[in-house]
Amino acid sequence: MVLDKKVYNELEGVVGQKYISQKKTTCYAYSNDWCAVEPPGKPDAVCMPANTEEIQAIMRIAWKNKVNVIPWVCNLTTAGMCNAYHGGLIIDLRRMNKVEEINTDALYAVVEGGLTWADFKREMVKRAPGYVGAYTYSPPASGVVTGYLLCGMMDIGLAHGDGSYYLNGLEAVMPNGELVRLGSHMISPYWGSRAPVIDLTGLFVGWAGTTGIVTKAGIKIYKEPAYQEAFYVDADTVEHGYPNQMNIAKQQIACDIASNNWAWGRVECGEKMPFYREKGEAELQSWVVLQAASEKLMDAKIEILKKICAEDKNIVITPEKEGLPTLPPGNQLQYFHDLPMQLTNDMDGNRGGIGQWVGCYVPAFLQAELYRIAEKIYEKRGYVEPDHPIMQYNRVMENGHETILRFNVFQHKDASEKEKEKDRALLKEIGEAEVKLGAVIYKPTYWASRVNMENADPNTVKLIKTIKDAIDPYRIMNRGQIGGI
Ligand SMILES: Cc1cc2nc3c(=O)[nH]c(=O)nc-3n(C[C@H](O)[C@H](O)[C@H](O)COP(=O)(O)OP(=O)(O)OC[C@H]3O[C@@H](n4cnc5c(N)ncnc54)[C@H](O)[C@@H]3O)c2cc1C
Repeated sequence: MVLDKKVYNELEGVVGQKYISQKKTTCYAYSNDWCAVEPPGKPDAVCMPANTEEIQAIMRIAWKNKVNVIPWVCNLTTAGMCNAYHGGLIIDLRRMNKVEEINTDALYAVVEGGLTWADFKREMVKRAPGYVGAYTYSPPASGVVTGYLLCGMMDIGLAHGDGSYYLNGLEAVMPNGELVRLGSHMISPYWGSRAPVIDLTGLFVGWAGTTGIVTKAGIKIYKEPAYQEAFYVDADTVEHGYPNQMNIAKQQIACDIASNNWAWGRVECGEKMPFYREKGEAELQSWVVLQAASEKLMDAKIEILKKICAEDKNIVITPEKEGLPTLPPGNQLQYFHDLPMQLTNDMDGNRGGIGQWVGCYVPAFLQAELYRIAEKIYEKRGYVEPDHPIMQYNRVMENGHETILRFNVFQHKDASEKEKEKDRALLKEIGEAEVKLGAVIYKPTYWASRVNMENADPNTVKLIKTIKDAIDPYRIMNRGQIGGI
């Protein structure tokens, strides 16, 4: 694990003096996920390659010298998944931000591994009007391919699935510098699908940069639907709210269902803590988005949606057109239909700007139970009204086959280490409770990846080790992530 002067000079020979640095200030800027309460890492150097060939050359040097390498797009998972806890070389991929091709006949785009949501949106609007990709609420500067590789939550995720569903195939540089092509692109010059070949795309999905560096991806795009309508669907309790979401999801009429609990809803509406829950204030506040190719189809979908909601007297449904104007001017919900958006501007709840969450994929029928367990943990640790009540977000994906539930914490930007430690302890206890109940933590931070792995089937962990031994025997890829395997 050495990044000495000789290695540095070799790397400089690849990317050029301008695109590599060991300066203290640069390394500091790359040391942390500045949204999160996790401790910073300590990178030895940062470089910005221009293309796949440069990445291959960098990996050959890293392999030869056993240098830890961390692929990096923005380090904004709010989990510090690029924090260099074992030192090493950060590879900032954002010079590789091109949309190489947009194919509206076969409905895919070919994009580079460092593409950000802002880049993607610009290119789609310019080059493929009337077509859209799947977006997250994550900051415009964060990554498209990373969002998909990490099984993120997308604005059309209810209709089409989590982020990994939008990957048709990948081009990737392996730890030894070899280039591979996965999905149908392993045989075809095109980027049609992951079928019908041996699907090795999974070698990069959920691996947190520990198997190699994705340099290109074929991603799905869609014809923009002619009609879109959104509804706010409030439930008095989560016990009524989650089942109602599932009743809607099962009808396959919507493209997105997500929710905030009352407190996170207030923060997203621009309200600052401290605040109290008002009597009768809905505990779970969902939004449901419908899309249709014709007015008639839209009317039919709205009728079904209203009928489902009417079956439970604890549910109140309001068209967004009526609900939005009643929200405070600082609300973020007004931007939900023009993604990407800069949610971080107002994620602080009056705490100056940092926050973190621990989220999980959880079977739908366990969501309410998990919410109550988390609520008790918040209360036990003193996170209560009016200063910091439980904050929840959930999303239903793939027509109800996938549900995620997430719990947030906020902190002052200049919080002391003691305050951050208190937040981490809260998140850790919730994360452990999630897994104990049968859920799996997504985008796991360093400690959370250990919670996942400690509870994983031992033979599967053995298989993961075997794969790592085969492709990354020196453990040079984002060392320490995926439970330290
Ligand atoms: C305010 C806010 C809102 C958010 N909302 C959402 C949301 O609605 N839905 C959602 O899904 N997410 C959301 N996120 C999470 C987040 O933005 C995503 O996780 C993000 O897209 C990925 O972050 P990144 O691009 O910064 O990746 P990074 O943190 O840079 O990388 C993530 C991981 O992938 C690895 N990696 C990076 N590039 C490559 C590569 N080319 N090949 C292989 N491995 C690689 C890294 O080493 C790391 O382990 C939100 C985040 C914030 C701060």
